[in-house]
Amino acid sequence: MTPGPALRDLLASGRPTYSFEIFPSKHGANDPALWQTVLELEPLKPTFVSVTYGAGGSTQERTLDICRRIEEQTGMSTVGHLTCVDSSVDALRAVIRKYVDAGVRSVLALRGDPTAGPNTSWVTHPNGFRYAIQLVELLRELGDFTIGVAAFPEKHPESPSMQHDSRILAEKQRAGAHYAITQLFFRPVDYFALVDRAHAAGVTMPIIPGIMPVTNVAQIERFASLSGAEFPVALRERFEAVRDDEQGVREVGVDIAFELSVALVQGGAPGLHFYTMNKSASTRRVFQRLADAGIIQR
Ligand SMILES: Cc1cc2nc3c(=O)[nH]c(=O)nc-3n(C[C@H](O)[C@H](O)[C@H](O)COP(=O)(O)OP(=O)(O)OC[C@H]3O[C@@H](n4cnc5c(N)ncnc54)[C@H](O)[C@@H]3O)c2cc1C
Repeated sequence: MTPGPALRDLLASGRPTYSFEIFPSKHGANDPALWQTVLELEPLKPTFVSVTYGAGGSTQERTLDICRRIEEQTGMSTVGHLTCVDSSVDALRAVIRKYVDAGVRSVLALRGDPTAGPNTSWVTHPNGFRYAIQLVELLRELGDFTIGVAAFPEKHPESPSMQHDSRILAEKQRAGAHYAITQLFFRPVDYFALVDRAHAAGVTMPIIPGIMPVTNVAQIERFASLSGAEFPVALRERFEAVRDDEQGVREVGVDIAFELSVALVQGGAPGLHFYTMNKSASTRRVFQRLADAGIIQR
């Protein structure tokens, strides 16, 4: 598969995209549990599966390996994430060449988080990039990629303001980005306000909302605090009511992700991107409910 131009054409056509995000398993591309998840997602016919990219050589190879296996052994297209963390520009060029060899022509171009952890300063590699925009420019230079970038409904944690974020998103588009995917969030109003600000700044590319069906309250609270997303009190109370019941938590997580997805699609979102956390069950249930309710057409 070479989904680069195909995904770009689909995005340009205005047809909604449905996508799933996985992360590479530490057991490699042959991890049976991860592969089972991939195979369970395949019948939903996603527009693409995106694979995250971590810091460190072996993690990066695992991203490539799982992308390659999905491209070769399923009917699904992949989007490989790529970050500037601890990488020289030459090393980034080499990874991009490997993506091409693996059949991956769509890349989510990211800066990555500071390696020393949350709330620490970003340190630019002496021969590397400071901002994701530079990676977008490199991808443009190296080939015919469909390029995605990150967007932040509740402001990037290091950013001085939401308006600054919007200007950066517009610059990413000018540099060659074709679409954006948002950080996870829980209130539709935060997504639509981001879209309004982005439009005012000149952004015309699709901004796809990122949704994480909650399966574990402690985990989501950690993610929310890392990403700067607020976990609203009203939602927390719904989980509190079932806190000692694992299945109950998953049910509430599916309900909340479904309600959020309905509000987003009905409000005009150009697609849905699900953070699956390598577990397909909740995402599949949300997806099925959306299809049954006629909210999404497959
Ligand atoms: C959908 C999605 C997927 C992700 N996948 C991964 C992944 O696979 N691996 C991973 O490590 N991380 C991933 N992340 C996290 C991401 O790397 C972090 O959120 C990171 O802190 C910011 O990345 P960015 O691409 O937005 O960086 P940038 O766009 O470079 O922004 C970083 C900060 O710099 C500011 N900035 C950017 N450009 C300029 C400029 N020209 N002038 C002044 N200020 C500027 C921005 O406002 C922001 O505060 C993902 C995030 C999202 C939303």
